[in-house]
Amino acid sequence: MLFRNIILHSRTTSPRPVPGCSKYMTGMIRRYSQHIPARKCEANTAHPGTQKSLPITPAINFKNFSNHHLAFQHKTTKELLRSLFVLYSCSIDTLVNNSFKLLRMGEWLMGPRLLRLLISPFYYQFCAGNSDQEMMVTAHNLSKSGVSILVCPLVESDVGDQQLRSELFNTNLKETLDLVHMAAQNNYLKPIPAMCHVKISALLSPDVMMRVHDAYELLSFKDRISVVMAVADAMDPNTSKSTPSIGPLALSPEDTKDLLDCLPRIYEIGCVATESKVILLIDGEYTYVKTTINLLSLAMMRIFNSEKLLVWNTYQGYLKNTLNVLQHDLDIATELKLKFGAKIVRGAYLEMERSRAQRLGYPDPVNDTYQLTCANYDNVVELMLRAVHNNQEDRAVMVATNNEASIRKAVSLLHELGLDPQKGNVVFGQVYGMAENISVPLGKAGYRVYKSTPSGSVLEVLPYLSRRLNENRTVFKGARRERQLLSRELISRLRSTS
Ligand SMILES: Cc1cc2nc3c(=O)[nH]c(=O)nc-3n(C[C@H](O)[C@H](O)[C@H](O)COP(=O)(O)OP(=O)(O)OC[C@H]3O[C@@H](n4cnc5c(N)ncnc54)[C@H](O)[C@@H]3O)c2cc1C
Repeated sequence: MLFRNIILHSRTTSPRPVPGCSKYMTGMIRRYSQHIPARKCEANTAHPGTQKSLPITPAINFKNFSNHHLAFQHKTTKELLRSLFVLYSCSIDTLVNNSFKLLRMGEWLMGPRLLRLLISPFYYQFCAGNSDQEMMVTAHNLSKSGVSILVCPLVESDVGDQQLRSELFNTNLKETLDLVHMAAQNNYLKPIPAMCHVKISALLSPDVMMRVHDAYELLSFKDRISVVMAVADAMDPNTSKSTPSIGPLALSPEDTKDLLDCLPRIYEIGCVATESKVILLIDGEYTYVKTTINLLSLAMMRIFNSEKLLVWNTYQGYLKNTLNVLQHDLDIATELKLKFGAKIVRGAYLEMERSRAQRLGYPDPVNDTYQLTCANYDNVVELMLRAVHNNQEDRAVMVATNNEASIRKAVSLLHELGLDPQKGNVVFGQVYGMAENISVPLGKAGYRVYKSTPSGSVLEVLPYLSRRLNENRTVFKGARRERQLLSRELISRLRSTS
């Protein structure tokens, strides 16, 4: 029935040049785009919350975070039962501790079909499915609550992954471009822009990223600025240069070549995103590759953020040094007059970071306790909100968390600073399948809310699922609230039918 309201159109590409992209790239984008059919949903194109202006005092009543009717009205009773089952399972230590092993063993013993059946409650809790149609239904359903999808890639790679070769990067590039288009096509809340995650480790070997990180760390502030400018120049085919250079970054010839080779891939993604009007959120990954990501993000901002805030980088609050790193990158942005967007997350690689630090004998980069991470996270969000307040046209932040206390603090500060939540320079993000009691009331009250939503086959999703279960162990155990709300909604539905 839903599809009666959804009209499929073939994509029409505009003949105008893409800002920041060469004629060659613009032609490539057009050729590429012709292969991707576009969809348009005629219903629901207006954002439910954008009709009225929000007052300076919080427009959201925080009590709505406890309103189970509001949070789950878009869910069927079967979906509620599934969510309850999944959230209870997540609090079972043995299951969560061994989730990846169990999933892999299941794949080996049963094959992908049976495994899919077995883990389908988990899969559909956290993933949109494996087809364009499933993604469209998910996006459309979310849009009814004023919530957008944030399309999430499933590539997972780390140092030592030997199979990372240029063919794989090209495959990953194609997949990333598909995701950018998927984000654009499933945007039912226009003119609110679509968003898409981008993983740099899908485009450049993590081993090279680690060595670039080490070399960049050694540089002075002034030299880092030179490197950002040099890398942006090398990335942008419109700049006139005889030989592309990476400035004062001391790398071996092989690593220099690999870094330079990845720049056209990144550039193509930036051009396609510009053309499709999709904001790129560059993901935060492991600490030992993080400054490479910061460097490439700043270089991208230099090329693609000249008119709009199209490229945003990620900062992870679980790291002890994040406040300094964010301030450092804000300083570079100020120095180079860049528009700068930041997604602030707590961080998803806690166990890997801790075990690597222990194995290699260096200080643990992650805060010692969950409470310290929470305090640090809120401080990082505050730094960014104040930066937005001081420069509203050139700064933007996504408060990306499922944590209710952090959302309350951010919303309160946003209003205290007199920022307009509908301007688009302060947005919120939650993981698909979690924190419905936060996303839905925020979306309905007119705040800009995105759900990070992966789509892929069961096998592709396994590491993602395992990480989702693992990273949230602490919280699932403490977060009786989401389960309580689900139970209450279920009971109230059963009562009303009896
Ligand atoms: C829109 C969106 C985008 C995201 N993008 C990224 C990304 O690019 N990179 C990335 O790494 N993650 C990303 N994440 C995941 C994110 O980092 C968190 O893992 C996830 O959101 C859960 O954290 P939370 O803020 O919701 O808070 P909570 O659920 O309250 O906290 C869980 C988090 O607290 C931290 N934590 C838990 N126990 C401890 C402990 N003992 N000591 C110290 N810290 C602890 C961990 O970071 C853990 O993930 C994203 C999340 C969202 C919603």
